[in-house]
Amino acid sequence: MGLCAYVRCPKCQQDFVVSPSMLGVEGIEAHCPFCDVYFPPGESPRIVGWSPERSGISVTGALRDRN
Ligand SMILES: [Zn+2]
Repeated sequence: MGLCAYVRCPKCQQDFVVSPSMLGVEGIEAHCPFCDVYFPPGESPRIVGWSPERSGISVTGALRDRN
């Protein structure tokens, strides 16, 4: 049961931890701590531990794992 989600940066391909509640906020951007880029969660190539359907928003283009 995740209190955190792992988001992969589309630029440097590193995974970092974000809050799922943050991902559920429409229009918010994730911040990569490795290369300092900001991107909408939908641009992430991989998000683990978060179900956007449950948050009521759609993420296109992202491969999502569930655990
Ligand atoms: Zn990055």
